[in-house]
Amino acid sequence: MAIERTLSIIKPDAVAKNVIGQIYSRFENAGLKIIAARMIHLSRAEAEGFYAVHRERPFFKDLVDFMVSGPVIVQALEGDNAILKHRDLMGATDPKKAEKGTIRADFADSIDANAVHGSDAAETAKVEIAYFFPALNIYSR
Ligand code: UDP
Repeated sequence: MAIERTLSIIKPDAVAKNVIGQIYSRFENAGLKIIAARMIHLSRAEAEGFYAVHRERPFFKDLVDFMVSGPVIVQALEGDNAILKHRDLMGATDPKKAEKGTIRADFADSIDANAVHGSDAAETAKVEIAYFFPALNIYSR
């Protein structure tokens, strides 16, 4: 299988719930390595830029309001099949539909406050990682 990289965000609700370590453990137990990480309180411009693909969607303003409501933890993950593996660990966007044992089933409250973000494809992963991390802040190992 191919070694891939993906971008993960632990959203403000999960940071507020103090489950950063529990979420990191799930990545590590699944064989995903954290190769870059930072805590950041996003500005509106940063959140809008990150979610620019959703600009026309009805939930865009609420999504941005939520993403700037508190600090987030952003990390790049690396491993075999990392993009899909990470999406599987996250579970469905709506936690009510997320499979048992997934991050969203266990820690998310609603489709808006859904604990985590993960890139959905290789091209998006590349753009999203570059949005937060210059190449020299990524420590592949
Ligand atoms: N979202 C929302 N309401 C919706 C759909 C999406 O608030 O009806 C938010 C939700 O936080 C989601 C994000 O917009 O995580 C991006 O949506 P996407 O469909 O890309 O879901 P994801 O890839 O995060 O599972």
